[in-house]
Amino acid sequence: MFTLPMAIARLPSPCTAQAKDELHILQTLLDSLQGALDWPQAMQAARPWVQAVRDHPPPFWAMESLLREYPISSAEGLALMRLAEALLRVPDVETAVALTADQLGNAQFDASSGGPHQMLASLSASAIAMSKKFLPENENESGLFKRVGAQTVVAATVRAIQLLGKQFVLGRHIKEAMGEAAAARKAQRGLRFSYDMLGEGARTEADAQRYLASYLNAIHAIATGNDKNGDSERDTTLNDGISIKLSALFSRYEDSQRDRVFAELLPRVWQLIEPAAKACLNLTIDAEESDRLELSLDVLDALAARIAQHHPQWRGFGLAVQAYQLRAPQVVEEVARIAKKHGLRFMVRLVKGAYWDGEIKRAQELGLSGYPVFTHKHHTDIAYLACARALFTHSDVIYPQFATHNAGTIAAILHMANAANGAPFELQRLHGMGEGIYREVMRNAAISVRVYAPVGEHRDLLAYLVRRLLENGANSSFVHQLIDSAVDVDALLSSPLRPATHAAFAQPIELFEWKGSAGRANSKGVDLAVIAEREPLLRAVAAARMEAVAEATLADMSAAMARLQQGFHSWTVTPLPDRAVVLRRAADALEARMPEFCGLLVKEAHKTLGDCVSEVREAVDFCRYYADQAEVKLATQTLPGPTGESNELHLRGRGVFVCISPWNFPLAIFAGQVVAALVAGNSVAAKPAEQTPSVAQRFVDLLIECGVPSDALMLLHGAGEVVGAALVSDARTAGVCFTGSTAVAKIINRSLAARDGAMVPLIAETGGINAMIVDSTALPEQVVDAAVQSAFRSAGQRCSALRLLCVHEGIADGVIAMIRGALSELRVGDPALLETDVGPVIDGQAFAGISAHIASLHKTAKLIGSAPSPSTMGGGQSELRRKLHFIPPIAFEVTSIADVKQEVFGPVLHVVRWGGDVDAVMQQINALGYGLTLGLQTRIDSRALRLAAQARIGNVYINRNMIGAVVGSQPFGGEGLSGTGPKAGGPHYLYRFCAEQTVTVNTAAAGGNAALLAGLH
Ligand SMILES: Cc1cc2nc3c(=O)[nH]c(=O)nc-3n(C[C@H](O)[C@H](O)[C@H](O)COP(=O)(O)OP(=O)(O)OC[C@H]3O[C@@H](n4cnc5c(N)ncnc54)[C@H](O)[C@@H]3O)c2cc1C
Repeated sequence: MFTLPMAIARLPSPCTAQAKDELHILQTLLDSLQGALDWPQAMQAARPWVQAVRDHPPPFWAMESLLREYPISSAEGLALMRLAEALLRVPDVETAVALTADQLGNAQFDASSGGPHQMLASLSASAIAMSKKFLPENENESGLFKRVGAQTVVAATVRAIQLLGKQFVLGRHIKEAMGEAAAARKAQRGLRFSYDMLGEGARTEADAQRYLASYLNAIHAIATGNDKNGDSERDTTLNDGISIKLSALFSRYEDSQRDRVFAELLPRVWQLIEPAAKACLNLTIDAEESDRLELSLDVLDALAARIAQHHPQWRGFGLAVQAYQLRAPQVVEEVARIAKKHGLRFMVRLVKGAYWDGEIKRAQELGLSGYPVFTHKHHTDIAYLACARALFTHSDVIYPQFATHNAGTIAAILHMANAANGAPFELQRLHGMGEGIYREVMRNAAISVRVYAPVGEHRDLLAYLVRRLLENGANSSFVHQLIDSAVDVDALLSSPLRPATHAAFAQPIELFEWKGSAGRANSKGVDLAVIAEREPLLRAVAAARMEAVAEATLADMSAAMARLQQGFHSWTVTPLPDRAVVLRRAADALEARMPEFCGLLVKEAHKTLGDCVSEVREAVDFCRYYADQAEVKLATQTLPGPTGESNELHLRGRGVFVCISPWNFPLAIFAGQVVAALVAGNSVAAKPAEQTPSVAQRFVDLLIECGVPSDALMLLHGAGEVVGAALVSDARTAGVCFTGSTAVAKIINRSLAARDGAMVPLIAETGGINAMIVDSTALPEQVVDAAVQSAFRSAGQRCSALRLLCVHEGIADGVIAMIRGALSELRVGDPALLETDVGPVIDGQAFAGISAHIASLHKTAKLIGSAPSPSTMGGGQSELRRKLHFIPPIAFEVTSIADVKQEVFGPVLHVVRWGGDVDAVMQQINALGYGLTLGLQTRIDSRALRLAAQARIGNVYINRNMIGAVVGSQPFGGEGLSGTGPKAGGPHYLYRFCAEQTVTVNTAAAGGNAALLAGLH
């Protein structure tokens, strides 16, 4: 029904020189506002509004007052926010008590101010008392008296949060909301509404269908309501309307899933557009995260084409544009172009943008070359005004809707509107916010105002509420400053039209304090959601070729060991800074060759594109990190001692280090081991996995090109039992670094122990039965996102992958149903395609082992669900299917933790329910004997920290996924059956590759202590 257009860049990449330079963009925006705005004059309107609000502050529960009393930077504000986010969804009393005690116990509400403050103060006091009884050790103690007392506090807290929430939803369902709207309209004639059906984005098809039904129901109700209002007839600007989120209508609203977006999401949106158009109401698509920005324009274009065909008269279709995007001005132009192209008029809601913190974090995590959003609040304000001006200039095809609570911004818009020769427009505010200012603004009856009105039950409100609290609690926020009398009116309304300032904080590349020459540059990533950025990668994948790597014979190995032993002598005396420079050079070279290495990783290791980019970045990080670490940690140290003596500690290479790495990270783990051994002054015999020699060979070649002598590093390819075993038992081996299975690590350990001669170190990093504990305060959507990523990314072929999900019985049914739904949305297939989420497992042997495990689970456990197999995804995947070995991700419910006895290295998730004592769950996980990664999902901070302390586990991740450890941020490696340590990518790693030597010189040997006698002490 909707044809998929070619993915062609409509916008510049936020990382091109043009878009990257925030200062340059700002200057252009300022230039575009020249002569358009007399700020001081515009502010004459805003002053009385501000004064009036200050003279008659909004009631306590209004956002403004609440945030002034309890700023989110305070323990109290944070406690309220955390409780608001979680408490109402907790199903069991014990956990609700623990959460309330945990959060209120951290805060101190002031009782002196009376009213609701008094209530919070007494709640807080009770909570503190309660927390003493219940937390931290006795969290589950349940004497009757204590339970009754605690429950009272919890009930009161729940009530308080419900009250708070009620301020921001217009009704629990559309009918109730429309009733409220009617009442509000009586008090304020001409007010319009845009209803928003609250909820998290869809994770499953069932979620999406539920939202679709709820939107449809709302549209029908609004249409009827508009008819009854009577005064608006066929004018979309007068009618009430609806705001929709595309991520609610389709669980995979992502750039990588364009084909499904067009095939599945667009028909759904069309189902909403038809009745909306017939009823002449405004349907606005909310703006979401910037990784969907380009996609959203294609969606707009396709829908507009169809609207032009079927409802050419309709003037109610619209979308929100975020001014904080560096590319906002281009978005406005593109939207106007699309409207013109189809002969339509759009309603465009201009907002500043609600996901600023998330955008900054994503850019840092992905190592992007810049931020996609402005980094100074006043830059966003300028962009808003410049976009507003542009919208006015397109008033033939755009009806602008200015959504803001900022009095300065509103006054500036009204000022510009005057100059726009009566071009129609409206202002918008969120229900429960900005009421004071708008009360004043609306004294001018000619101004149209629409209220964005969330509709939903308490549970659905929480995420929305927290976003509003965060957004408005920020120091820079207008609402935050409005009723803070310490901020004088001049300052509050000061002009944002001042010159650009340098980025407010470190660029993603500077995350590790890189200053151009000193510090470590963060590895550069690729934003696969940006067409211009992913193109080179896709081309390189198509062109990738593997070279054959010859297997080493026993004679080759012996010769290599002899050569490496020779090579060691010259490499180890190469000055440390020179060795470090070689690593840094290698990092730069690898970074520059990212597409080529990604191509090779796809071809040889069948990794998906996202995984390839992360892997190359990790290898780059290892090179830079170990270079830096070596210079600091391995430098000669002078040690204290008595006079007449000097003491020095030297760290130096041990000899020939054997590095044996696995196929699942054929570049990153291989590189990490090899460069660590090299920079410590060892020569290296590198044995890559049998399955992935090409990637390893290419990296060895790169190191040699960058200055590692060819007799200090040799690649020896072949079977582990032959080549690996021979290298380990070779008398010339001075140390072994191994990553792989626990079983092979034990074989290596025994083999080393059985050797005659020197005892040498073994650094082993092995697998784990990694668990995630989820209590009933956790947000199911977040849990499912984290679990699905952790268990199934890389087809579960990560040491860190989640194997065992332990879910509290109170929320287990919902979480399990959501996992089932999320599984069926995953795409298994050709790793070279952008849309693939899960590629094949590495080879036939792995396939057989995992399949056998699945077969046994079918007999002993309860199937939760699985992802569609590649053949059902359609498209020419059948040949690929014959060549590669696909196992669609699958999940089973097992009865106990002890049922999971071994690590199965594939996309298989075991889920177990738990109740009662969470500490007992932790003990059972410890009892498995592995200790690599652990996930914790809870909003009870003290519980999370206590469990982390109890865990005999190397990497603990709280409220996030548990894969993708970052070099230098999350040093990686476990204990127990999971490995020996030290952690890779951590500050203690290099020591293990070194021999230590203390050199003590008796400086008084030649006749006496000259220094002491000369007074040099
Ligand atoms: C009716 C309505 C509908 C909305 N719909 C959407 C929507 O569809 N999508 C969406 O994303 N948002 C939406 N929002 C939220 C909106 O984006 C703003 O977050 C919110 O309105 C606050 O902006 P302000 O002008 O009211 O307040 P101000 O206090 O003037 O501005 C705050 C905003 O400035 C920006 N900002 C804060 N700090 C910085 C910084 N250091 N550097 C750069 N920028 C910064 C952020 O965007 C922040 O939200 C909507 C808001 C309203 C009123």
